[in-house]
Amino acid sequence: MFETTIAGSLPKPAWLAEPDKLWAPWRLEGAALDAAKRDATLLALKEQEDAGIDIVGDGEQARQHFVHGFLERVEGIDFANKVEMGIRADRYKAMVPQVVGPVRLKGRVHAFEAQVARAHTRKKLKFTLPGPMTISDTIADRHYGDKVKMAMAFAELLNQEAKALEQDGVDVVQFDEPAFNVFMDEVTDWGIPALERAAAGLKCTTAVHICYGYGIKANIDWKATLGSEWRQYERIFPAIAKSGIRQVSLECRNSKVPLELISLLEGKDVLVGAIDVASDKVETPEQVAEVAAAAMKHVPAARIQLCTNCGMAPMRRDIAYAKLAALAQGAALARQRYA
Ligand code: ZN
Repeated sequence: MFETTIAGSLPKPAWLAEPDKLWAPWRLEGAALDAAKRDATLLALKEQEDAGIDIVGDGEQARQHFVHGFLERVEGIDFANKVEMGIRADRYKAMVPQVVGPVRLKGRVHAFEAQVARAHTRKKLKFTLPGPMTISDTIADRHYGDKVKMAMAFAELLNQEAKALEQDGVDVVQFDEPAFNVFMDEVTDWGIPALERAAAGLKCTTAVHICYGYGIKANIDWKATLGSEWRQYERIFPAIAKSGIRQVSLECRNSKVPLELISLLEGKDVLVGAIDVASDKVETPEQVAEVAAAAMKHVPAARIQLCTNCGMAPMRRDIAYAKLAALAQGAALARQRYA
C-alpha cells in the first residue's frame, strides 16, 4: 500500500548536460558521453533508493528529451531539417523534426540504459516511453498525410521497444501522454486505441502518465487560462478505465484537478502526484500523507501509489532529491496511519 515511484525524468548532473533546463545540450560526445550517461543512470538509481523510492526508474538520464530520445532511433525522420511548429494546440513553439518516409526502428532504442538500470537495482524498475499521440503532436508530418495513421505507425514501433524492455527485465512500462488533456475528442477516438496498440501483448505492468506539463513558463501561463477547476480528465477517464492500461499517473498536489475525478478510473491503480514539480518548495511528509488521505476518499488505498506530479528534469538536483525523500517519508507516514 502506498508504494512510491517517480513520473519519469530526474535532473541530470552538471557534467552530463547543462543544468536546470529542458532540451539541455550534452556536455560530452561519443564514447565519453555514453560512459557519462551510464554513470548518471547509476547515480539516479542510488539517489532514488536512498530516498526510499519503491519503484525506481533510470531518471531518463540517457535522453535529451522524452519524445526526441525515442525519435532519434527511428528511420524515416529528417532531423537535419527541423521546422517550427506550434505544439499542444499551439501552447508553445518548438523546432521539430519531420516525418519524410515510412517509420521503422533502426534497432533498439533504450537497451543500454534499461540494461544498466536492471543490472544495478533489485527494486522494481519502471521505464518510460512517449505515447503515440504525444509523438504525433511533436513532429511534422510530410509523409502520412493523416495524423491517426501516423500515430498508429508510431504505436507499432513503441510496441516493439516496449516488448524488448520487458525482456530486459523492466517491471513497468509507462507511456507519457501529456497530449491527452489537449485534444479531448481525439483521445477517445484514436488516442486510447493507439495507446493500447503500443501496449499490446505486454505481460508487465502498463501505465499511462497524463499531465498538465513540466513547470516551465509556457505551461504555467497556459494553466492560468484553464479556470479554477480543471475538469478535462472527466471526459477521458471513463475511456481510460475501459482500456487495458493498468495504471494511471496524474498530478494532484497543488493541482486544480478536482480529486474526485480519480474515482472515474475504476479498476486502475492510480499514481497520485503528491510532489509539485512546478515549485522548488520541498513538501513535508505531512503534506504528502495529506494527499494520500484525500485520494483514499475516491480510490481504495490498495490501488494508490504515491508519485511525483510530472518529470523533474528542469529542477535543481538537490531540491528534486529532497522532494523524493519527502515523498517516501510521507508514504511511510500514510501507511502508519491508514494501513
Ligand atoms: Zn508530466
